This record gives sequence, structure tokens and C-alpha cells, in this order.
Amino acid sequence: IASLLDHNAANAGDDPYLVDAITEQSQAYADMTTECRVFARQLSALGVMPGETISVFLPNGVNTAKIILAAMYGGYIINPINLLCQEKQLAYILGHSDTRVVFTNSELEPLVAAAMQSSGTRATVMTVSATDPALPTLTLAPLPASPRAPVPASQPALLMYTSGTTGVPKGVMLSHANLLASARAIAAEHLLEKSDRCLCVLPLYHINALVVNLLTPLLSGAAVIIDSKFSATHFWPRVQKFQCTWINAVPTIISYLINDETPCAIDRSRIRFCRSASAALAPFHHKSFEERFGIGIIETMGMTETAAPIFSNPYDPAQRKIGSIGRPSGVQATVVDKEGNPLPAGQKGEILVRGENVMLGYYKSDEQTRKTFTHDGWLRTGDLGYRDADGFYFITGRVKELIIKGGENIAPREIDEILLLHPDVLDAAVVGIDDKHYGQNIAAYIVKRMTARDDDDLIRDINQFCLKELGSYKSPAAFRFVAELPRGPSGKVQRLKLLEL
Ligand code: ATP
Ligand code: MG
Repeated sequence: IASLLDHNAANAGDDPYLVDAITEQSQAYADMTTECRVFARQLSALGVMPGETISVFLPNGVNTAKIILAAMYGGYIINPINLLCQEKQLAYILGHSDTRVVFTNSELEPLVAAAMQSSGTRATVMTVSATDPALPTLTLAPLPASPRAPVPASQPALLMYTSGTTGVPKGVMLSHANLLASARAIAAEHLLEKSDRCLCVLPLYHINALVVNLLTPLLSGAAVIIDSKFSATHFWPRVQKFQCTWINAVPTIISYLINDETPCAIDRSRIRFCRSASAALAPFHHKSFEERFGIGIIETMGMTETAAPIFSNPYDPAQRKIGSIGRPSGVQATVVDKEGNPLPAGQKGEILVRGENVMLGYYKSDEQTRKTFTHDGWLRTGDLGYRDADGFYFITGRVKELIIKGGENIAPREIDEILLLHPDVLDAAVVGIDDKHYGQNIAAYIVKRMTARDDDDLIRDINQFCLKELGSYKSPAAFRFVAELPRGPSGKVQRLKLLEL
């Protein structure tokens, strides 16, 4: 990553790299690299050595992006922390990661201080200005540039904790080589070039934005426009103002944009595609977005453990398949049964992947790392699915969330998607509940739309709908209305938490 920054500074020094979506100020490649160099030297002068960990607990901004890149440049391990973490989760991550310095802002500092105290973490806390894009000058005056010691590509560059959808977040260690292999696969998949521009509204503390929005443009010498967060009001106007050529989104944003009634008056002809990743995109939302905005969606699938996408739909719209995560991208993939035997197309099992993108391992958790890899080096994704005859993969749920009713495997996602088609259902998720007769049965948790109908009447109607669409075996045996579904800090439904309800 440092070599790439040096290369871009030398060959396209005046070209913009990071652009602030609000102030419109831009940072050119040459200045960026100079700042990284100074910042890295200042850190080492503070006694923090390359190979040690630095955390960042900040909203998106040009300076957040710079801290991430400057740490990688200097051979440090950067640990971006999810801003939605509460004190307990933050304390866990700060304690577990052995961080030496935490970058945050004055608003978040009390939370950081409380979390450090409860976890007994002794790190230096540095506050960053929310408005000044310059990197914080540490206690020392800037030092002149000098040749840096090369950072081997096999060294860890990033320590990123998983979303914690299925348990305690795991600290994934990714090397420079892992990150660049992933960025290369994305650039090739989406035919990205120097002239492309993307608005980054997804948080940089997730692997998706960090690799797709920050490192992929670096690879092609392109610019990235960094927004503080997604806002339905500012989204389209900013895409227009910065002449963006592609969009990086998640299903929640896609659903937000479809449900927002303000007319989208911008010229969308320049936008080549919209990516979707991080959770299943309901086919109904996929089609509504394409119909309403005339922008094709490329659904992809990635994990923290694989430095973002490992499956992608093709660039050619005619070849994409709605409901599929696409074909393996930058990795080899296979589907296996419980005993680890490869399964033919059409049969459901666990998806395994292998390739240059795949992590070094989980930090301080050799046992978990060992369990996650097979003896011949395949990563168990924990996702269930199948491959079709054309080599496209489909995810049906997670191994941990599979419902086994009377010995029959039922994928929760299939039922969720039918429920979402009912006109009075806004959001829904099913889970397996204990059942005397079947071992497990299906319970549906539903967030309803505004309706005049009473609950019993609505349940009867939804039940009828399910029986018609799914048959009695796959129809939920119990329904419950909830105000909202429990979601983790990444916005993904935590099915296992629903059981506690
Ligand atoms: P944890 O591992 O801590 O339980 P997590 O798996 O949600 O949390 P991430 O690494 O952020 O943490 O997410 C990766 C997972 O997200 C994948 O394993 C997969 O289950 C899901 N996912 C990503 N993209 C898609 C997609 N397009 N369709 C369905 N699921 C997806
Ligand atoms: Mg996971």
C-alpha cells in the first residue's frame, strides 16, 4: 500500500485522491503521501513502532481516511472501530486489540475514556478536529521526508472486527497483500479506471467501504468523495455534483432510496452501476430500484475475513442474476456437505473459499482460526447456499441460523422474502423455535406497515398468504409483531437475538 501511494505521488501527484463531500476540498496524491510520511515518522518518534496497532474511532471524513492510509503507509496495523459500538463492545475491542494509540474526536472521547477504564487499556488518546482535514500533528514538529523501510506485503495492515451478527466480534487480521488482491479483483470486475468517481457514504470501519471505496480508487489513481454518512436528502444531489460514475450501497440504503418519495431529478446517464453487498438484497428491492432509477444493480458478497467481495455478478447486465451473489471473484469457491465432501451444482451446503484475499487469521484466537480453515486451506464462510449450472452462487442463510424442521433443512431467507412480498409487511425475519413434534418450527417476527386492520385479522391474512406461497411445511407456525428487528452495529438482523424475545 505504501508503494502504491509513493507510485501515485510520483506519477500523478497533482491528481485528486480524497475529496470532502461537504467542503469540496480535495487532497492530491503527492500531498497525501507527504502527510503519510510525516505522520508515520511522528508516530515512531512517539515510541509507537511499526507492527503495533493504532485504532480509529471516528465518523467518515477525509482525516479518518488519512489516518487509515498513513498508518498502513508506516507499517502500523490500523484498527477502525464501528461507531455504533456501545461502551461494552468498545471496551472489548480496545482491550483485545492491544492498541497503542486511539484516534477519536472530542464528542466521542468520554465514551473512549470510559471504555478504556473498564477494559484497563492504557493507550494514548488523540483527538481529531471534525472540521480540519489535516492530520493531527502529534507532539513533534514535522520531520523531512526520508526513504522509508519497505513494508513486506505479507505483514498485517488491518485489524478489523467482524459484525458480531452471530456472536462475539472476531478480530480479523488482513495483510497488505490480502487487501490489494481484493482491490484488484474489484477493479477488474467493475472495469474501474482513473476517471471513475464514487461517493463514499458507507462507514470506513467496515471492510466494504475501506477496500471498495478507499483502496480500489488508490489502485487506479482515481478520486473518492468522502461523505460523513448516508443521507437520503444529500445522496442524489452529491452524486450529481461530483459527477459520480458508480455507487456503492447496501440493501438498507437501497430500500431507503426506493421508499423515499422525493423525485430524483438528477441526470443519471453517467452512472454505470450500483453495487450492493453486506446482506441479502431482496429480489423485490432489486427490481424496484432498477425500475425506479434506471441504474442496474451488481450484487456482490463479501466478508471481513476475505477483505470484502469474493463473489460478484458480471459487469454485463444481460448476464446478471437477480437473487444471486454472482460468481467467485478473485478466489476459488466450492460447496460442501457436513462431512466436507464437495457437492454438485444445485445441492445446498456450506460455501468455502480459498485465495489471496483470505485473512491471515483471527487475532489472538488460534483455536477459532484453526476451526475456520479446513486442513487443505479452505475458509469456511459459515454461509449456506448452492451453485447453479452456470456457476452462479446463491446464499440461503447461515449455518448457525438454519432451521431444521422434522429433519428437513429450511433456509430462513426464503421465508423472509415471501413475507416481504405481503403488502402490509415492512420488515420480517424468521427463526427456528423448539417444537415438541418437529424438533424445530418456524416463528416469524414482523414489522407491519401502517394499517387500519387489527392484529388478529392481519395475522390470518399473512398466514393465508404464506400457505399459498410456501405450502404448509414451510409456513411459519407462529407470528409476532415487533416495533423493529434487533440489528447489530452493521445493521444486519441478529436472528439469534430474536429468540430472546
Ligand atoms: P459475525 O461473523 O461476527 O457473526 P458477520 O458475518 O455479519 O458477523 P461480516 O464479516 O461483516 O460479519 O459479514 C459477512 C457476512 O455477511 C457473510 O458471511 C454473509 O453472511 C453476509 N453477506 C454479505 N454479503 C451478502 C449478500 N450479498 N447476500 C447475503 N449475505 C451476505
Ligand atoms: Mg461472519
